Amino acid sequence: MNRFRALIPLAGVAVLGVLYLAALFIRSTRTQIELQEAVKVVGTATPVKLVAINPHGVRSLRASLRQGGQSYPVYERTVSASRWNLFPKAVNPTPFEFEAGTGKANGLKDGRAVLRVETVSNDLAGRTDLLELDVEVNSRPPAVSVDEGQHYLTLGGSEVVVFTASGYWSEAGVRVGKYTFRSFPLPGANDVNRRVCLFAIPYDTERGEVPVVYVRNPAGAEATSGFWNRLTWKTFRKRNIEVTDAFLEKIFKELDPGGKGNPAPRFVKINSDMRKANAQTLSELRLKTADRILWHGPFLQLANSSVEAQFCDYRDYFYQRQLVDRQVHLGFDLAVTAHTPVAAANDGVVVFAGPLGIYGNAVVIDHGLALQSLYAHLSEIQVKPGDAVKKGRIIGKSGATGLAGGDHLHFSMMVDGVMVNPVEWWDAHWIHDRILAPLKMTE
Ligand SMILES: [Zn+2]
Repeated sequence: MNRFRALIPLAGVAVLGVLYLAALFIRSTRTQIELQEAVKVVGTATPVKLVAINPHGVRSLRASLRQGGQSYPVYERTVSASRWNLFPKAVNPTPFEFEAGTGKANGLKDGRAVLRVETVSNDLAGRTDLLELDVEVNSRPPAVSVDEGQHYLTLGGSEVVVFTASGYWSEAGVRVGKYTFRSFPLPGANDVNRRVCLFAIPYDTERGEVPVVYVRNPAGAEATSGFWNRLTWKTFRKRNIEVTDAFLEKIFKELDPGGKGNPAPRFVKINSDMRKANAQTLSELRLKTADRILWHGPFLQLANSSVEAQFCDYRDYFYQRQLVDRQVHLGFDLAVTAHTPVAAANDGVVVFAGPLGIYGNAVVIDHGLALQSLYAHLSEIQVKPGDAVKKGRIIGKSGATGLAGGDHLHFSMMVDGVMVNPVEWWDAHWIHDRILAPLKMTE
């Protein structure tokens, strides 16, 4: 009896121990494996970025490619284990980055495969979790072949090129100096490798910079091709702008209320810094585009308007006879009378409608394939983002909001976020010869 009593505390310890182990097992939690970027095609060394999410952390991660009953290991990492801690601090998601492809998997062939990622949770139970992904192995390097054709280019103008991409590629388009323009599936082609790219010769292209078509994959392998082109250089106008106190009072009230200090630097901050920030916002709208052509026929110019400023006027700004700033005007200023109805230049979808710094109340319409039009300084906006508009539909009224001295419409055209000369897009002949004919499209 006495001996039995002596065993009771021992039994208690044993029970506690079992409970502790049971708790450790019960506490084992599932690992969520999340890809940071989609992986559909695997080349020779395709980067795979993922995070493993488990409050206990992960003890190990292994990745392999499986094909025809064979498994090809591509990655393995073991993280220090702590199995015995019942109250571990919550662990942040663990990032993993590795390369998968034929480079590390001798015997892997082009065709279908499964990328398999296996994690073990960092607790006593060591729970195994899996992510399996169907991928296509394509170890052929990217290649490009440009359709035959003559490309007459103008500084500040637009152009289209058609090409075929092949091999493993994930990005294809045209590069001009520091600018890149994305390509889209060729309308009516039914083959994602047949591509069309609308591109610009940006106004600040430097002599000697020629457009090239490029295709590349995430591993950085790239192929490029030039194409026949003839670039017409252009000299743009120079304009002196006198900045008056009345004008400054008007724009400070709207764009720098409560601001203090010398008028000249305050003006330059708006004209330079705010302009840059607004240009960035406009450029990012290029990502909100349809992958097909939404427009038809020439774009409309504000009816009966007089041209007050042209595309690429180089402007010198003077305040009290001192040169205070220099900017390039990348659109047309068109004036009729105050509060003139402004029509959509062509069919499209509104992707921006609201105040935008120096542009005042502005509307941007997407016309597909990253071609967009901008309407600025409006006194009234009559559309909202997401609205589908037809050519000629009234979208607002002209005004003098933003950096504007008097009532006018500032109109810009953009190709993949780069401002281009609208004159070409207003011209039915140019549209037919330079855009629709190469695409074998009619209006
Ligand atoms: Zn303007």
